[in-house]
Amino acid sequence: MLTGLDDIRGWQEDFYRTLHRNPELSHQEHTTAAAVAERLRECGYEVHEKIGGTGVVGILRHGDGPTVLLRADIDALPVKEDTALPYASTRTTTDPHGTEVPVMHACGHDVHTACLLGAAALLADGRNHWSGRVVALFQPAEEVGDGARRMIDDGLAGIVGNVDVALAQHVLPFPSGQVGTRPGPVLAAAESMRITVHGRGGHGSMPQATVDPVVLAAMIVLRLQTIVAREIAPADPAVLTVGSITSGTKSNVIDDHAVLQLNVRTYSDRTRTAILDAIRRIVTAECQASGSPKDPDFDVFDHFPATDNDPATTARVRAAFDDHFGGDRTFDLPLQTASEDFSDIPTALGAPYTYWGIGGIDPDTYRNAEKAGRVDDDIPVNHSPHFAPVIQPTLDTGTQTLTTAALAWLAPS
Ligand code: ZN
Ligand code: ZN
Repeated sequence: MLTGLDDIRGWQEDFYRTLHRNPELSHQEHTTAAAVAERLRECGYEVHEKIGGTGVVGILRHGDGPTVLLRADIDALPVKEDTALPYASTRTTTDPHGTEVPVMHACGHDVHTACLLGAAALLADGRNHWSGRVVALFQPAEEVGDGARRMIDDGLAGIVGNVDVALAQHVLPFPSGQVGTRPGPVLAAAESMRITVHGRGGHGSMPQATVDPVVLAAMIVLRLQTIVAREIAPADPAVLTVGSITSGTKSNVIDDHAVLQLNVRTYSDRTRTAILDAIRRIVTAECQASGSPKDPDFDVFDHFPATDNDPATTARVRAAFDDHFGGDRTFDLPLQTASEDFSDIPTALGAPYTYWGIGGIDPDTYRNAEKAGRVDDDIPVNHSPHFAPVIQPTLDTGTQTLTTAALAWLAPS
């Protein structure tokens, strides 16, 4: 079936260049979604559009058998492209705050989109070789962390039905042609929290008549640092950062409240819950210790779930990759500090999942940087204005990974 790559490469590369030149911000992926839907229809998929805004799902059934969900994210970032590629984006757009911003596929979601369309085409052309159901899911707004959730809230489960396994991939800054898998935790959960603590305002010269929210906030910042140090096992990686504190405007006025903004990164739901509970416990207790007149307010925003690959699913995918690519093109992906909302989808559908990495950097460029000890200096990473995956073998590899992984579940027919 993968011999069909030669037949799709032409349109797939054109699609990729066009998408790279025409990126769209999260929740604004209207042109991208329409192009995806059109291609899926041409391949014979039953197409569902505008799920959770701009989400697209293509479904192809061929006989009885398992259902495999393949997911790509489709949104771009407010970054000004500086790659000098002939198909570089020069576009600007209006962000949700009404500001004119540059826009670029700086995270490689255009690679994911083109690869999934290629795999969808190969699976459709080769349908006589398998039996089951393929769900090709194109998710908007990964970069803001709520695209998956919005598709779920808009009835995704009713559209796709029972799903036996969910699979996704990301292009990363390692040599193109290489594929990295990892069982267990692979990406961090992340959340931001805004905490408002209440004091009693007054004159800076008469502290006895006030409850000082600045002193209260200072106690909280120090005490919060004991959570990771004293309540979480040393082998369980976690980060808690207080990135912002604001209170008052003048040296001799005690304000009546302070606002703290925190960012938390964890690799399991258990640790995440433990840290969030500890934050609430400590902040509430510090407020009581200070004689705060009112309970604190907690507002969690920008939530990304942990990505925790199912070991059995990962082993099955890795065996398929080793078999297809040979062992010299597969490796064990290290734990990544980035975050993703993909896992919201399989979690909502009750399906096991795995998420792997494909390389996007020209292999010679990467090896030269490695020899010179300059990988961190010379190899642009995702979200950089210089991030420029090479088209090949990146698209071929990302198409083969999705196709071979899907075939590891679809029953032979
Ligand atoms: Zn990104
Ligand atoms: Zn990304």
